[in-house]
Amino acid sequence: MTDQRPAILALSVADLEAWLVANDAGAYRRKQLWGWLARGAASFEEMHDIPKPLRAALAQEFRITSLRSVANTEADRGLTSKTLYELDGGHSVEAVVMRYADRSTLCISSQAGCPIGCPFCATGKFPFGRNLKAHEIVEQGTDAVRLLAGEGRRLSHVVFMGMGEPMANYQAVLDSVRRITDPELLGISPRRIVISTSGLIPRIEQLGAEKLPVTLAISLHAARDELRDVLVPINRKYPLEDLIKASQGYAETSGRRVSYEWVLLAGVNDTERDAKELGRLLRRKLAHVNLIPFNPVEDTPYRAPDRTSIRRFKEMVEGQGLNVTVRDTRGRDADAACGQLHERVKRELSAAGRAPVKVP
Ligand code: SAH
Ligand code: SF4
Repeated sequence: MTDQRPAILALSVADLEAWLVANDAGAYRRKQLWGWLARGAASFEEMHDIPKPLRAALAQEFRITSLRSVANTEADRGLTSKTLYELDGGHSVEAVVMRYADRSTLCISSQAGCPIGCPFCATGKFPFGRNLKAHEIVEQGTDAVRLLAGEGRRLSHVVFMGMGEPMANYQAVLDSVRRITDPELLGISPRRIVISTSGLIPRIEQLGAEKLPVTLAISLHAARDELRDVLVPINRKYPLEDLIKASQGYAETSGRRVSYEWVLLAGVNDTERDAKELGRLLRRKLAHVNLIPFNPVEDTPYRAPDRTSIRRFKEMVEGQGLNVTVRDTRGRDADAACGQLHERVKRELSAAGRAPVKVP
């Protein structure tokens, strides 16, 4: 049976403080408790500067997290790790931690499944489940903090590039960003947060008006409508010209360069024609192009280009006068592209005829 206790982070500041006061504790205990969550506490029990009876009352009333880790994979000799979480109600999502010399990045999910349905994406292939609540997004952060703290590392960057379209779950994503950046909770600078979107124009405009200096990433993948209509189906509603206008509007109000993502699909969007079209679209704009070699997904017609064609495409885009980098293929063997661990675990478990098991 599912645990009926609310997750502690599901409570607003006011509700948690009211609960504390009603339980004969000072409202200031809320900050103390959040401090523990921000350091990755795994239980109320370990919060030793909170009186024991209060810790017991908290544990009786609330869960420290609503996420249940059901599978883990590692790649890059442990530098990349991925966790599959089961949510209340049974849907599941993934989060990936990537460790570098100077930072640790968490790739976070905002929806179970995705309603956009890009044909090259593992997440887009299974039916949409549900939107995550803000606390379910933040809990992926507190869980990563705990994991990294055990290794003497700190979480420094968060990218909304896991499962789901963040702009299709706007309010919860925004609320979670406020908590992730809150100095009383995770305290991560908005400049170290990337929100990646397939291009929901009204939400891009709304985000600009929030005046949060988060980095916006646009999943472009094609620079002509005819091809983008297929690769990113939301393009039929929000076509390229309008999308570039909205994202450049964001760049101007935030003063931050927009990152344009381009998943490289062999023979589909890695030709000279594509590089020229991209050049025409983004030249002299506040833009950076991120080339992502395709991480193969089963039952799709797409292939990853080889190294030579990746290099050639990069040079052609540079030749157009654009800033461009090739994203490293972190976690290829950890099923790190969004939705892939979910797919594999589901496949393996159904082959074994059993329900997910808890992995420590
Ligand atoms: N829904 C949002 C954010 C999640 S996807 C979006 O689409 O922007 C994060 C990035 O991973 C997107 O740029 C997406 O196009 C890319 N991606 C999806 N599947 C991929 C795959 N199999 N290989 C490489 N990149 C992929
Ligand atoms: Fe959704 Fe992004 Fe995957 Fe497209 S690439 S299906 S928008 S998660």
